[in-house]
Amino acid sequence: PASSGVQAVRASGGHPRAPPPARRADMVERQIRARGVTDAGVLTALSKVPRERFVPEALQDRAYDDTPLPIGFNQTISQPYIVAYMTEALGIEADDRVLEIGTGSGYQAAVLGELAGMVYTIEIVPELAERAAATLKELGYGNVHVRAGDGYAGWPEHAPFDRIMVTAAPAEIPAPLLEQLAPGGRLVIPVGEQGQTQWMTIVEKTDRGVVSRRTIPVQFVPFTRNPDR
Ligand code: SAH
Repeated sequence: PASSGVQAVRASGGHPRAPPPARRADMVERQIRARGVTDAGVLTALSKVPRERFVPEALQDRAYDDTPLPIGFNQTISQPYIVAYMTEALGIEADDRVLEIGTGSGYQAAVLGELAGMVYTIEIVPELAERAAATLKELGYGNVHVRAGDGYAGWPEHAPFDRIMVTAAPAEIPAPLLEQLAPGGRLVIPVGEQGQTQWMTIVEKTDRGVVSRRTIPVQFVPFTRNPDR
């Protein structure tokens, strides 16, 4: 999941055996810039984060492929383009405090960590949360904080957040996340029932109220809930 309906761009460079920085540069050009992501900060962040460190060892040759990849527990690391698209849509500013729901591999959190002041990220599968926290620590992302738990309730201790990104799809936007969005803040979230078209949705908290718009059709893994909450 976490892929778009956007036509795949055929990569002629980026041979799997090329060194990761070259493969990353190729990914940024062919998969991301070619599809219209232009934000310089986002492109720089994507060309820095070692995506191969966030995929299972057996799939490392495919780390820069134009596709989501399995990370265990029925979950996936999103397609690079989707990560770039959502990050650009979030419009992060340097000192922003950002909340992510759905840590998964930790890759998106690392990208957010390159751009924001502080990142808080919540993952419902404890094993994934642990692994992501370890990877992020090894890579020196000291501004990214990982917690295991149900992200439905947000992270009230660190609210309000200037930006919130959700990388699993609920049928409706969780109310606590809207509450924890700062005035002037922005939320980027895929919304829709499983098996139906989900829409990337951008929500802004303005002084005239909450304004939301749908952008592209997407396919994400379900936003699940802990039964004990
Ligand atoms: N951002 C991730 C991709 C995540 S896939 C990455 O860069 O790798 C979506 C993730 O959301 C899955 O790991 C899934 O377990 C998690 N998830 C689903 N529902 C959740 C919830 N209620 N709270 C926190 N995480 C959730």
